[in-house]
Parts: sequence; structure tokens; C-alpha cells
Amino acid sequence: MASPALVLRSRRAVLPDGVRPASVHVVGGRIAAVAGPDDVPDGVPVVDAGDAVLLPGLVDTHVHANEPGRTEWEGFASATRAAAAGGVTTLVEMPLNSVPATTGVAGLRAKLEAAAGRCSVDVGFWGGVVPGNTMELRPLWEAGVLGFKCFLAPSGVDEFGHVGEAELRLAMPVLAELGAPLLVHAELPAALDRAAASLAGADRRAYATWLRARPPEAETEAVELLVRLCREFGTRVHVVHLASAAPLPLLRRARAEGLPVTVETCPHYLHFAAEDVADGATEHKCAPPIRGRRDREALWDALAAGDIDLVASDHSPCPPALKRRDTGDWLDAWGGIASLQLGLAVAWTGARARGMGPERLAGWMSAAPARLAGLEARKGAIAPGRDADLVVWDPDGETRVEPGTLHHRHPLTPYAGGVFAGAVRATYVRGACVYDRGRFLPEPAGHLLLRDDA
Ligand SMILES: [Zn+2]
Repeated sequence: MASPALVLRSRRAVLPDGVRPASVHVVGGRIAAVAGPDDVPDGVPVVDAGDAVLLPGLVDTHVHANEPGRTEWEGFASATRAAAAGGVTTLVEMPLNSVPATTGVAGLRAKLEAAAGRCSVDVGFWGGVVPGNTMELRPLWEAGVLGFKCFLAPSGVDEFGHVGEAELRLAMPVLAELGAPLLVHAELPAALDRAAASLAGADRRAYATWLRARPPEAETEAVELLVRLCREFGTRVHVVHLASAAPLPLLRRARAEGLPVTVETCPHYLHFAAEDVADGATEHKCAPPIRGRRDREALWDALAAGDIDLVASDHSPCPPALKRRDTGDWLDAWGGIASLQLGLAVAWTGARARGMGPERLAGWMSAAPARLAGLEARKGAIAPGRDADLVVWDPDGETRVEPGTLHHRHPLTPYAGGVFAGAVRATYVRGACVYDRGRFLPEPAGHLLLRDDA
């Protein structure tokens, strides 16, 4: 075997079979071997993390970078620097909020061009399923998207239309044949329309109004539809950003039946609770909304039990003015929470408080999302053959959320002023140290990830 270019060593390496002392040997950007902590050849540079934990790099499968077209909202350069600072070594970019949307091959090409040379971590791409683009799905897959995303309710941007059962009946057989996952924003418009009809005269600054506008039935009815269609077509279905506990029994039954349904939730649903959201505090606006404490605890229980597969950020920033902090109008504000840099700290704070260890984080935030995106041969674990994507992370450190420490384009986030457990010390992408205690590798080293056989 070639002599390693680099060895990273820790007394607490999070490996697929547990946490133990190990040395990770890197050759050509990949993990060549995982050996005992003292099994290091002479003359090879060693990064000794000591008591700090060595985590597999996080894979965040739900990120809106908004480039090209809405770069003033975020952009690949700032998003991927925030990712690196947060221990995220791979992100998968959503097909909407960029202009053009990634609903055809030309849209993917535009995005690849915008991202080239600007990314500090590896970046893959989801394609979009929108009304009328069934013929584009196979070409997008062959051009390298990792799967597809659709909305069952209005997405918030005109260029990315939502689909109903009729359009799903066209798209799902195609995706089943490709073996591509379909990620779904699961709220049904019928329940939202019923809710909207009851909002006349409501106080638009009251958080209760936003909760009433997006009731849990919208999530439950959407999951019912998806389970039914998944059973009929066999398409891999992934429910993004589950906020409500109400659909969990349905999802458990579908999975017990053997249907290929996976589920994610987000740091904001695991951390905040409706009872604590102030009226007018529209930096918390997202859809579906942050629900009550009982939902939050049920989401944690479902994660612990394995009924929710993964945690993704749904990082969806916008220029601060669009959050309407001036008026505090929940119905008017842009829905989306900026958190790409903070997901690990937020999830760890909650997991540790509930008695769970770093190996669970690695499952939810690295291994499971890598599988969703079909990247598990290269990403998602500290194991021979995988890319040397590694995070030196101090679980006993702390992350203070101050505007100056955030690398997102806009520091507006509901986490502002918070103190969270754990601190990222250094982040390695394919063996290159891209982030080290606040400093970045000047040349962006991230690759654009297309499907291996694309
Ligand atoms: Zn999203």
C-alpha cells in the first residue's frame, strides 16, 4: 500500500462500528486504512486530535444556495464556507430559489457553471419535478442529478410550480424505473386552503396565526397520498422537513410494510417550540411551522427509535428585508431559516441533553443522508475506500452564535445570541484541510458531484 500522505488520529473516532481510538490513513484524498492509534508509519504528517472527536464529514441534503439568479440571498461561495465551518463536507443543493430552477438540463448546466471554482466543500444537485417536465426527468438523471424534489403546495417562487396527484402519477413511474429518490415538501393545499379561509381578520403578527395557517393535517394528508402512491409505483419517497408528530404513525406503518419511504426533520424543529416563539419574531418563519413542545419531543423520540432517518438543515436564507422584521407580519415574511453552519451544534445540544452520543449524530447527519443521495460509496462514514471527509470536533466546546462568526451571506437567524454545545475545530474534504479554527483554505477545494455513472 502507498504510504499515507496524512494521518488523522483521535482517541474518539466515530467509526461505523462504534467510537474508539484510531488513526485514519489518507492516500489520494481517500481513506486508505483505519488502524490503531499508534499504527502510524514513520515520516508521515500526523494531525493528532487528542480527546477531540473525529466525525465523518456531515452530508446536508437540504440546502438552498440560491445561485444563479438570487445570489444576493446566499450563493455557493458563502454557503460552502458556512458549511465548512459547520463540519458539513458535502451539501446537496435544492433545485429551486435559483433562477433558472433545476427543472431541465439547461438549468443544471447553469448551476454547474455558477458553482464551478466557488465551493469550499463538495456539492451535489437535486433536480425538480414540476408540472409539465416529465420528459426532462430522465435527461436530468443522466446529466448527474442525485434525485428529485417536488412541492405539493406552492413553493414560494413562481418558477417552481407545485404538483398534485395527476403530475405525480406521471413522474413517479419514471423515477421508479431510474431508481431515483423523490424528495417531497409534504403539505397538501386542500388543508392549507381550508385554514386560509378561517384567517380573515386574524392578527398577522401573532405566531398563532402562522400556526393556524399551516395545520398538521396538511402534513398528514400529504403523507397519506405519498404512501398510497409509493405503494402503487414503488418509487423511493423521502419526506423532507417533517415538523408535526401527527404523520409518524402513518410513516411507521408504511416502513413496517416495507415501502421505500424515508423521513427527515430539521434542527429548528428539534430546538425551538411554538410556545417560545414571540409574536412578530418572523426570523422563525418556515413551512411547515415550528410546532409545540409535544411535537418536538415526539420528533426526538422518533429519531431515537430510527423512525426518522436523518437531520438536514433546510438552510433557506433571504435578504433580511424579506423577513419583514419591521412589520412582524407572519403571512408576508419569507419562509426559510438560515442554519447551515449551526446544524451540528444545535442537534448535538439536543441529543446530548437526551442522553444520546456522537455516533447517533454521525448516523443522522452523515451516513443516512449519504444513502439518500446515493453517495454512500464515497461519503457518510470513516471507512476504507471512502473520501477522507473528516471533522475534528470538540463535543465539550461551545458554539456562540454571533453575527461576526457566521459565514452565511446574511447573519439573520433565529439562533442569534444562542450558545450551543460542541465546536468544530477543523474540517477536511478529501484529505485537504478546508477550515481550521476560523480560517479557510484560500482556494476553494470542493468538487461538484454528479452521479457516478452520469
Ligand atoms: Zn427547503
